[in-house]
Amino acid sequence: MEVFHKIANYTAWRSKVQNKGLTIGFVPTMGALHAGHLSLIAASKKENDITVCSIYVNPTQFNDKGDFEKYPRILTNDRALLEELQCDVLFAPESTEMYPENEAKKESLDLGALGEVMEGQFRPGHFNGVMTIVEKLFRAIHPNKAYFGLKDYQQLAVVRIMNDQLDMGIEVIGCPTVREDDGLALSSRNMLLSSEQRAEAPAIFQSLQKGKEQLDQMGVKEFKEVVARKIDEFSNLKVEYVEVSDSYSLQPLDTWANAESAVCCVAVHAGDVRLIDNIILYN
Ligand code: AMP
Repeated sequence: MEVFHKIANYTAWRSKVQNKGLTIGFVPTMGALHAGHLSLIAASKKENDITVCSIYVNPTQFNDKGDFEKYPRILTNDRALLEELQCDVLFAPESTEMYPENEAKKESLDLGALGEVMEGQFRPGHFNGVMTIVEKLFRAIHPNKAYFGLKDYQQLAVVRIMNDQLDMGIEVIGCPTVREDDGLALSSRNMLLSSEQRAEAPAIFQSLQKGKEQLDQMGVKEFKEVVARKIDEFSNLKVEYVEVSDSYSLQPLDTWANAESAVCCVAVHAGDVRLIDNIILYN
């Protein structure tokens, strides 16, 4: 596996690859890799000649300094996993590569209503940070296709909008959420959970599933209340939001009749650890 810490070194290598007409699939991550990340790499390997995985804990997308500081960083371990998977390139940039000093400030893209709901509402500035880093990485890596998880449902919608605006000819692909056997969505933050928090965390997805099973018997408002109540029954879990939205626009729904397909997204605190998850309610 090739490992690059500097954009210029990657670019020199890439020009050789592109001269051979090989296609590049890209999986951006913040590391502490788990089977969710690895599924994106597997999808990329299937569809491209070369797969590039980036690992960079991007400071500008953290609205909480404590969350940034305690975010797990285990590069040696990650590198070994990527080697095992026969990923072709690891791009692990130094911070000065992504945020050079004296860089001109750019206007951030206006996401409109999409930027003001759910993660946009509860994590001010988060999506500006995401768009900043994804654009920088897209320009540095120059992939044909880029792979993102449906676990971060709203992030995928934001990246799609940004990608359309950038018009770089990259195909953005969404991949299914990988879960533990008990339903908990894999997340790098799961390793920060205490054993009590970990034991209760599966209730997040289980509550979404139970709510979905009873969907016909409830209006949207009641559905959200029922899901929130089921999660809050657990002493280590505290719901931040439960939202039901149109799966495409992500605008909140107040009746089932207003959308052809609906998704329910949640954010839950387990102590200091913030977990998100979602379920497609109908298509
Ligand atoms: P992160 O390292 O958390 O920024 O995530 C990097 C990429 O992996 C994003 O596109 C995430 O949506 C995706 N991802 C994270 N967790 C999962 C999961 N459990 N299943 C599938 N994709 C995931």
